[in-house]
Amino acid sequence: MTLQVTRRQFFKLGATGLATSSMAMMGFAPEPAVASVRHFKLTGAKITRSNCTYCSVGCGVLLYSRGDAAINVVDDIYHVEGDPDHPVSRGSLCPKGAGLLDYVKSDSRLRYPQVREAGSNEWKRIGWDEALDRIARHMKDDRDANFEADDDDGNIVNRWTTTGMLAASASTNETAYLTQKVVRSLGMVAFDNQARV
Ligand code: SF4
Repeated sequence: MTLQVTRRQFFKLGATGLATSSMAMMGFAPEPAVASVRHFKLTGAKITRSNCTYCSVGCGVLLYSRGDAAINVVDDIYHVEGDPDHPVSRGSLCPKGAGLLDYVKSDSRLRYPQVREAGSNEWKRIGWDEALDRIARHMKDDRDANFEADDDDGNIVNRWTTTGMLAASASTNETAYLTQKVVRSLGMVAFDNQARV
């Protein structure tokens, strides 16, 4: 049950040294005061819609970032919350999704394509164009070398078993459908989704 106090009483309580957030959790916070602080925190933020990357539920999230929009300035994401307009989750997030800000800020998060050349033990940063070209080249070469049109008994199989694909769990239905079509049309057999990992 929420304890009703006036604004003046609220600030008197604050003078005792209790943190405002702790007081709010205890039910002492007048709702208008808390709403005002929240509004201030998000004022001027750029809001970007996205999906939680953790699992196949694909909950919708709102990413709040701040930057001056100048060239070469990267917006800094400082708040993440559920998207109330998302048809899957309608604003709710599980604890993993609610902690997405730690994921965004993690030093170990992969932020750009990297390659480890054959024989090397070091990862090297490359651009997206180079990464896509290299992937396409490897796929073409491997498929040309290993594609099987029929098996030993003469049955038509049209299969490519030496390369696999792992799809993203946060894909939309449309992206997942197209990924499946592309992969199967190449004859690829080993195809799975990160949602099961
Ligand atoms: S918020 Fe939780 S349930 Fe939703 S996609 Fe992320 S991990 Fe899955």
